[in-house]
Amino acid sequence: MDTLQQLWEYCQFCPICQKPCRDVVVSVGPDDNFRMIDYSKQDNLLHIRCDYYFEDTAQTEVTYIINCDTHKYELQMLDEGMPETQFPFYFYLNANCDCNNASISSIDIEIKWAEATCQIYERFLIDQEDIYLITGQEGYHITLRSNQSRMVVSKLIFSRTGGLIDDGVEQTYPFVNFDYTDIDKSIHKLKTIILFS
Ligand SMILES: [Zn+2]
Repeated sequence: MDTLQQLWEYCQFCPICQKPCRDVVVSVGPDDNFRMIDYSKQDNLLHIRCDYYFEDTAQTEVTYIINCDTHKYELQMLDEGMPETQFPFYFYLNANCDCNNASISSIDIEIKWAEATCQIYERFLIDQEDIYLITGQEGYHITLRSNQSRMVVSKLIFSRTGGLIDDGVEQTYPFVNFDYTDIDKSIHKLKTIILFS
């Protein structure tokens, strides 16, 4: 994806529900230095507010204001408690759908304080996407990773209590696009791939 805005919208959109119904959650790091207070996103501006820690002591409150289209950012500090040492800051996105059939997480998006231009030069990629294709009495769990042209598939089996559990047998296949608007068709396509691999 070219922009953080596109990544955000991709995370929002549940492929199973076919609508932007997933809440995007922002997490930050490194854990020793940044602890999230809150975040908000309005239009294309993402505000991430954190307490900045140095040697286990809170130093100051910092807010990154990131333009998700241009990737320029502004860093606001509550006071000048920031030591000279420049620590990296990163954040990542993840989203789960209430349908429980599609979750996603991005790779870390790193901001380096040293950059005078206040510009993020990262790529905006999905780290992992998990999709559960379930219909009638069968189901499959597909795991996609953006840096691979392959997908990992395991079969779901119904437990005695009626819940679905992974059978734990993972098989890897070349990546294919599925039409998630038609789960029956997608399962049929997946079974064909499994059969002829
Ligand atoms: Zn969903």
